[in-house]
This record gives sequence, structure tokens and C-alpha cells, in this order.
Amino acid sequence: MYNEGLIGGGFMTDIVSSLIDELGADMVLTGEDVSSRQAGFFARSGVQAKALVRPRTTADVSRALKFCYDNDQSVVAHGGLTGLVMSAVTAPDDVAISLELMNEIEEINTVDRTAVVQSGVVLQALQEEAEKRDLMYPLDLGGRGSCTIGGNISTNAGGNRVIRYGMTRDMVLGVEAVLADGTIVSSMNQMIKNNAGYDLKQLFIGSEGSLGIVTRAVLRLREAPRERATLMVAVDEFEKLPNLLKHLDSELGGTLSAFELMWNNYYKLVTTRPAQNTAPMAQDYPFYVLVEAIGCDADRMENILADAWEQGIVVDAVIAQSESQRMQLWGIRDDV
Ligand SMILES: Cc1cc2nc3c(=O)[nH]c(=O)nc-3n(C[C@H](O)[C@H](O)[C@H](O)COP(=O)(O)OP(=O)(O)OC[C@H]3O[C@@H](n4cnc5c(N)ncnc54)[C@H](O)[C@@H]3O)c2cc1C
Repeated sequence: MYNEGLIGGGFMTDIVSSLIDELGADMVLTGEDVSSRQAGFFARSGVQAKALVRPRTTADVSRALKFCYDNDQSVVAHGGLTGLVMSAVTAPDDVAISLELMNEIEEINTVDRTAVVQSGVVLQALQEEAEKRDLMYPLDLGGRGSCTIGGNISTNAGGNRVIRYGMTRDMVLGVEAVLADGTIVSSMNQMIKNNAGYDLKQLFIGSEGSLGIVTRAVLRLREAPRERATLMVAVDEFEKLPNLLKHLDSELGGTLSAFELMWNNYYKLVTTRPAQNTAPMAQDYPFYVLVEAIGCDADRMENILADAWEQGIVVDAVIAQSESQRMQLWGIRDDV
């Protein structure tokens, strides 16, 4: 969100002290407390910003944004800083607003299968809380241990189950956000089937913080899977990949949930020391695909795979026989 800031040493100090007066010293970090934080997933340097604000409530976010708006101060939202396009990187004259303390899972409704969360909740924390209740939040990606629900919403993250459950957009039922001038916009819809009026949340999903800061959300949960088959297959020609996808999708009758393609050079890199993964199959195939089918058991998958083998679509395959083998296969895909 860009409210152009004025530049100048004295003024900058003034604005930071006014920000502290407005929000309280415990909410505003400055100096080394800011620069000692890593600026992003690929960044080698620390965060550069005049100050970093850590609100706890939507009202705090509103006060912080209103102050910055009234003082022509540019603002950048910080989630888990796992974004791969540097959109959360701040310049020295920016103020960062980190949602890290807004990390409460307010409610999980096991009957309606919804979760109400603050936007700083870490994706993995929500996944685990849902699992404890035999539910699943289907979004999953390698940055799960750090990325936040607000960041997922703002980037409309796809993740590794997009083929079955869609993008983040398909998992968000409602959103609360604060506009640049501090106005709170609430559209915390709880229903799947709702075609009443404008669907305001869609504006904030995928807008990278440019229209406002997402503070809370209502998310759709699913029943936890009772079975799943996870495997890695090797393919010798690129042209066979669409056929493999078609074969699996049609034979699995809608249960295909992940189809993650890896090229030979990536596979080799992440299965050779110093990487931690061991190669489950030879390292000289041109393509590898991590396949997962939520709702399919390993026996059925074996038959489907045998057909693919006979048709010459796959040249090698490994099916996970335990949860730890499943995690090993996913470790290869996630080791970005
Ligand atoms: C190992 C790894 C694997 C990944 N895999 C995938 C993948 O499979 N699919 C995929 O789509 N992406 C993937 N990503 C990128 C993905 O988009 C981000 O990891 C994640 O969605 C960003 O969340 P974050 O909390 O880290 O956001 P940040 O990086 O902190 O921010 C991202 C953007 O959102 C804005 N923002 C953050 N929080 C808010 C908020 N509350 N309100 C408004 N704006 C906000 C920021 O200003 C910035 O513009 C991956 C990243 C990593 C590191």
C-alpha cells in the first residue's frame, strides 16, 4: 500500500516518534530490532524500514494505517516473508506492518467445517489444528511452517493440491481487511453458497496488499482423508506427461490431489549430498512426478500404475508404504 512518504532525516525521526506516541512503544520496533530480521526468503540482508509495527488486533491495524495515511507514510504488509517475488521487501523509508502477533485461530466449527482466523496464523498451525479435529485445510505448500494465512490470501497461493482443491481463492469464505485510510471492511461470510450482492473478498485475494491489509478470514475446511496414496513416478518423454495426467485423473475418478512435476536437474540436486533427501529411484530419468490421491488406497493405485506402465507412459515408480515414506517423497518436492 503506497502513501508516498516524505524523505529527510529529521522528519523521519519525528514520524517514528509520533508513531510510537500513537501506538505505544511495545507495538513499534525500530533500529536493530528491525534490521536484524531477514528481509525475505531469498534475501541476504536485513529488513530496511523506518519502523516495524506489530499490531495485535484489527483496531491496532486500523490506527496504524490511519496514522500512516494522514502522514503520507508508505506502508508494506509483512506475513511470513516466504513470498518468492520480493513483494514484501521494504525500502528504508517504508514502515512495515507485520501480522505476526495476530496469530489466533479464533474458532474451528467442526459441523460447518469452517475456521475463523487472524491473518497472521501460520499455515501449518491451522493445518494441525484442523487435523486434531479430523478435518483438513487443503492448502499446502513448502513454506507451510512460516507463511501466513494473510500472505496466502494476498498472493492467492496455489500450493501442491491446487489440481483438486483450487487456489486459496477457492478456500476463502470471508475476509476482513483494513483500507489504507484505516477504514475496516468486513465481509466475514460463513457460507459456501452465497450469491448475495458484491463479493468484496475477491478484491483482496491475490492483490498482494495493494488494496489493504487482510486482518481476519473465514476459511473452508474439508473432512480429513481416511486414506491416500502417494507415489513418485519417472517419465522419459515430456510429451507423455499430459497422457499420464489424463490417465491418472480419469482412472482415479476425481481423487487425484497432487501432480507435481520435477525436472532431472532439480531431482538430482535435492537427492545428492549435501541435500538431506535420499533418491527413491535412479537419478537419470528426464522427469519425475510426485503424485498423491486423497481418498484412494495404495492397492488401487498400484493397478492404475500397472496400466500406465503397460501403456509405456511411466518407466519407473515408487509407492509410499508408510507415512514416513510419504514424508520422504514430499521432502524431495518441498526442498526448494
Ligand atoms: C518453499 C516455498 C514453497 C512455495 N510454494 C508455493 C506454491 O506451491 N504455490 C504458491 O502459490 N506459492 C508458493 N510459495 C510462495 C507463496 O506465495 C508464499 O509462500 C505464501 O503464500 C506467502 O505467504 P507469506 O505469509 O510468507 O507472505 P509474505 O511473503 O510475507 O507476503 C507476500 C505478499 O503478501 C502481502 N501480505 C502479507 N500478509 C498480508 C496481509 N495480512 N494483508 C495484506 N497483504 C499481505 C505482502 O505485502 C506481500 O506483498 C512458496 C514459497 C516457499 C518459500
